[in-house]
Amino acid sequence: MTISQELFQKAGTLIPGGVNSPVRACKSVHCDPLFVASAGGSKLTTEDGDEFIDYVMSWGPMLLGHNHPQVAAAIAETATRGTSFGAPCRLEVELAQAVVDAVPGIDMVRMVSSGTEATMSALRLARGYTGKNGVIKFHGGYHGHADAFLASAGSGVATQSIPGTPGVPADVVKHTLLAHYNDLDAVRTLFERQGDDIAAVIVEPVAGNMGLVLPKPGFLEGLRELTRKHGALLIFDEVITGFRVSFGGAQAAFGIDPDLTCLGKIIGGGLPVGAYGGKREIMSHIAPSGNVYQAGTLSGNPLAMAAGLATLKALAKQDYPALAARTDAFSGELENILRGKGVPVTRNHIASIFTLFFTKTPVVDFPSAQTADSKAFVSFYQQMRAQGIYLAPSGFECAFTSFAHSEQDFERTLEAARKVEF
Ligand code: PLP
Repeated sequence: MTISQELFQKAGTLIPGGVNSPVRACKSVHCDPLFVASAGGSKLTTEDGDEFIDYVMSWGPMLLGHNHPQVAAAIAETATRGTSFGAPCRLEVELAQAVVDAVPGIDMVRMVSSGTEATMSALRLARGYTGKNGVIKFHGGYHGHADAFLASAGSGVATQSIPGTPGVPADVVKHTLLAHYNDLDAVRTLFERQGDDIAAVIVEPVAGNMGLVLPKPGFLEGLRELTRKHGALLIFDEVITGFRVSFGGAQAAFGIDPDLTCLGKIIGGGLPVGAYGGKREIMSHIAPSGNVYQAGTLSGNPLAMAAGLATLKALAKQDYPALAARTDAFSGELENILRGKGVPVTRNHIASIFTLFFTKTPVVDFPSAQTADSKAFVSFYQQMRAQGIYLAPSGFECAFTSFAHSEQDFERTLEAARKVEF
């Protein structure tokens, strides 16, 4: 038995499913999880001493690579002055300034401790601000695990929601309306039917939780237009795309001006941070300047602020277009190799993110993503992992590259893919 397997066995007696977040258990790829002992740059080292080239990158945050020297130094230096104050500190102001400077749609920002808190709080603010209840989300969109977002469609009827998990009352998700990503007509219909009570549309401007799915030309513009017309807020969930699709996020890349933006992952540089921000007029409704309540004991935590600030400072100097071009070339070659083996592959790519779907169908929404052959993915995942390549353990996730990934990493990954048999 490996050390990872021993730890997983023990974890199973202490932690539900042996993990603190479900996908990590690697159930859908029929593997045990690897327990990570350390990480640096593009690599992970397991408790068994095996090294992996990492394309999960902590599910997105580590765009600079693991254990970046400036980020690690900022955390260590800050820790010498205390780890939590529960009172305002300078670093909060500095990180807020860096976020406002980077993200075009954000005039004011509130720090929280996770992406889930960011989206949950943004929705509360949208409801408090508009006085309406409804929220439109998209099938296959993930906005964290707050009740309102855990809804999926019943019998393909987009206007009716059923809870996606036990423990979420139907009463809570009855205000959650669903449409397919990239289907502007469906959103228009929802507004025509129920526009009087729709507080917000929440969307990942580039979807990253059904695998990577890009917005069709006009989709995001259409959402902007419809929300304005009906007095609803447009919330961009940029927890994945923020500081990754471009330094200013997807909104800067696509030139769309959302009312509210949710951030997470990269903004914390690997520490627990989320944030939501937007127009000054809307954000000033949050307590204590307004009456929409939201709070947090560890919000604005100095270590987390230091990690985020060091990350943003280092990212501001990076060459995003170059990483995008390298990721495109690398994932394109990966696609060619797999196609050469006779399996159908559709590749979606933007910036430092890509997904290879094992399907011929163009992937534009959740149903088309679901046409992918999960058996082929499991086989690919297992064979790549056996060769030291660490991919997300689900066909509906993204692969992330980072500024630490070298051409040698890519070449080794392609070499492994050449040896895969279907
Ligand atoms: N929003 C998006 C787009 C995400 O991908 C995630 C997490 O993966 C979240 C929100 C929730 O963030 P967290 O896991 O930090 O609560």
